[in-house]
Amino acid sequence: MGNLTFITLAMWVYHKMPELKAEGGISMKHTENLGIPMFSGCVSCGARLGLAQACIGRDGFIVGTCCASQETVCTSIDAADQIMSPSLADQFDAMEAQQEKAEERLNDDRYESEEITGGDR
Ligand SMILES: [Zn+2]
Repeated sequence: MGNLTFITLAMWVYHKMPELKAEGGISMKHTENLGIPMFSGCVSCGARLGLAQACIGRDGFIVGTCCASQETVCTSIDAADQIMSPSLADQFDAMEAQQEKAEERLNDDRYESEEITGGDR
């Protein structure tokens, strides 16, 4: 295999709307029209991402170039298409709900362990 390309949101948008390159880039309005909602960042490490660093994960989550690997990220536009359409918004909603749940659980755990080991530190 040659060099692998990790498909980012920017690459995918340019594939859908090639005219944007000539027009000076992707605006928030374009991403809204394509159904890309605002997202918080890399699903692995939480880093804030621009469209050019936001790789389209195989499981539908956004993985930053910081954490991308060929196992976790789409390496072709075709694969990205299958992830990105048609229910992108639903996937992002699910991702947000999952992250919130995970954070709640984390906070709960921390709270409990602090109570148990409370006076030691
Ligand atoms: Zn990351």
